[in-house]
Amino acid sequence: MTAETENEIEKLRELITRARVVLWDFDGPICSLFSGHSADRVATELVEWLESRGLHGLVTEDERESLDPHVVLRAVDRRHPGSDLVAELEERLTQEELRAAASAMPTAYADPLIRTWTAVGSRLAIATNNSPRVVRKYLTSRGLVSCFTPHIYGRTQDLHHLKPDPHCLNRALNAMGAAPSAALMIGDTPSDFLAARSAGVPFLGYARNKRKEKLLREAGATSVVNSLAPVRSVILGQA
Ligand SMILES: [Mg+2]
Repeated sequence: MTAETENEIEKLRELITRARVVLWDFDGPICSLFSGHSADRVATELVEWLESRGLHGLVTEDERESLDPHVVLRAVDRRHPGSDLVAELEERLTQEELRAAASAMPTAYADPLIRTWTAVGSRLAIATNNSPRVVRKYLTSRGLVSCFTPHIYGRTQDLHHLKPDPHCLNRALNAMGAAPSAALMIGDTPSDFLAARSAGVPFLGYARNKRKEKLLREAGATSVVNSLAPVRSVILGQA
């Protein structure tokens, strides 16, 4: 084992040992939600739906080209906050996510890690920008929902509360009576890191490739793993 690896493991051990409560982002660390159902296509369809209603001016060229459903949703919310249009668009995205959940690809080692962490007495929550209905459907299909219930905090129609806003993390901490410093957030995007930083919660990045790792590190994340396997090993080692 190199000194660098040893140092990484030590950092990981420190993060994990301190965490009484673990807040998970959903899409990325737990599963790849849109693996069989393209998020690009969902974003394009949301834009086409707006266009079919004569509302193409609500989304800029850049937002359209982001191919990210959340960017489209947020853009419309900024221009028509709290409107029926936003509510309808949000519901359309939820329906697409529910369809995607049926073909989501579990992240390697996520299921056993969730079970192990629960077994050693840590409390788990979900803090996601996806619909909580989708999270419940997926976790139920994997037999994991009881590891999180009732602490599943996701997108509401208050879209300005989406991460990087720390709202869903704060909801989880308040409901669980946990101090931010006694928690750990696991996420795969800069917005997860920024939300954790705003909430004062230590952060562990999960990056399935070098591109995602670079984005997390550039945002300021200092602990990033490319697999959840070492996280589970650390927990088993200390159990
Ligand atoms: Mg994610």
